[in-house]
Amino acid sequence: MDIEEDIRSLQLDSAEENNGVANPEEEKPDEVENEDKMEEDPKEVRTVSQPVNPEPKVKHKEVSAPQDVEVEAEKGITKRHLNVVFIGHVDAGKSTTGGQILFLSGQVDDRTIQKYEKEAKDKSRESWYMAYIMDTNEEERVKGKTVEVGRAHFETETTRFTILDAPGHKSYVPNMISGASQADIGVLVISARKGEFETGYEKGGQTREHVMLAKTLGVSKLLIVVNKMDDHTVNWSKERYDEIESKMIPFLKSSGYNVKKDVQFLPISGLIGANMKTRIDKSICPWWNGPCLFEALDAIEIPSRDPKGPFRMPILDKFKDMGTVVMGKVESGSVGEGDSLLVMPNKAQVKVVAVYCDDDKVRCAGPGENLRVRLAGIEEEDILSGFVLSSVAKPIAAVTEFIAQLQILELLDNAIFTAGYKAVLHIHSVVEECEIVELIQQIDPKTKKPMKKKVLFVKNGAVVVCRVQVNNLICIEKFSDFPQLGRFTLRTEGKTVAVGKVTDLCAA
Ligand code: GDP
Repeated sequence: MDIEEDIRSLQLDSAEENNGVANPEEEKPDEVENEDKMEEDPKEVRTVSQPVNPEPKVKHKEVSAPQDVEVEAEKGITKRHLNVVFIGHVDAGKSTTGGQILFLSGQVDDRTIQKYEKEAKDKSRESWYMAYIMDTNEEERVKGKTVEVGRAHFETETTRFTILDAPGHKSYVPNMISGASQADIGVLVISARKGEFETGYEKGGQTREHVMLAKTLGVSKLLIVVNKMDDHTVNWSKERYDEIESKMIPFLKSSGYNVKKDVQFLPISGLIGANMKTRIDKSICPWWNGPCLFEALDAIEIPSRDPKGPFRMPILDKFKDMGTVVMGKVESGSVGEGDSLLVMPNKAQVKVVAVYCDDDKVRCAGPGENLRVRLAGIEEEDILSGFVLSSVAKPIAAVTEFIAQLQILELLDNAIFTAGYKAVLHIHSVVEECEIVELIQQIDPKTKKPMKKKVLFVKNGAVVVCRVQVNNLICIEKFSDFPQLGRFTLRTEGKTVAVGKVTDLCAA
């Protein structure tokens, strides 16, 4: 890949497709100042809560197709599987919309809804009851904020979905990274309520940062739901909807999304469930001729992945349960009972005892699936999140140094970026302190060519090739080989300062 191509894909692929609007300087995420400082707590990223379906149906079935399409043998139905992450500013309605999806797809019965409604009322938070379905623990209910990446499952006509709920509060961005790093598609929830779109999008809002992160982390398709259309300040107004769409489009283009191919807008009300399972009634919204949310979800196309590639599953979490169980999403290849694998980077030989997909035991599973895998031959204490379950024949590399192309977003206090700069590296499920040990080359954002002058430091907006070092061995891949395992963000004090991709691995 030549350097020009490289940069284009760092800016995430669509300069020409978007009529050249990929210059980060035009649409820098410069509105994240005043952000609360938070402690970087890698543990937060490692938390993955259990499914929130109140009565999980536990059934055992055999899945034989090692693809991202699952064959339900007993029903003879073929459904693909997709992971969805909900992103957007706090209070945009992510939990409400997620809860409503579960309700409308039959995952939650009326009685449970009534129970949540009553509980919410007792706490004087009547309008939050839908969010209760997603927000599982008491602490979240009291605060009315989703703290962890909660998981839930639902099905439409063609697809089985796993929802990874990403909270909108700025302090919880590390969880959003963990959610988005597993997601195939993103649902960006925007509040149309007067003043709320503006707060979410402009100064201090999370909408822009979430979009940038989603793209960097490999969420290739976005559904943008313009929510709260029922609110009395909106009243299903076409003008308001169009205003939001037209303000979002240039930014989406500059973040690397091809708006025609990868992005779809639609109006909904998560609270009353309008334009979600069925199309909105013309008497309420006469101007909308597009699909409802479920139709849009059904129709989303994502590139199929190779089930025969070398096996790679970054480990998100682990626990003891009749052996050692690891959780994660398969990024490449397939896994089945009886397989011999390596836990990298410590090269531990393990045997697969059982594979669970959602609540079901399966014989075999392929790329894109979120799995729990029971292993023999390793103790739970010997595994950390960020390790990778890997094929024996072609194991993933383990390195302490790599070359990367970085795009600097916004440095804290306008600091300069130079050799010696330290940050926290987030790459798939890895969270590690890192240091930039050498700036190799700066790339001219206009010509996309390397600049001749030796580079000693760069500032906000720069694109730079550099050498990055970590203290512990980490398992990563070149972006060109496995995009999901080669894209990363650098964060300092809870804020994303740069996004990048791995261009080369240095021998350990
Ligand atoms: P989150 O922080 O993005 O998960 O937002 P929540 O789902 O917790 O919603 C925040 C607030 O907006 C709650 O009071 C919801 O009841 C309200 N809300 C969410 N969706 C809608 C909607 O479609 N219409 C109206 N009117 N209010 C909504």
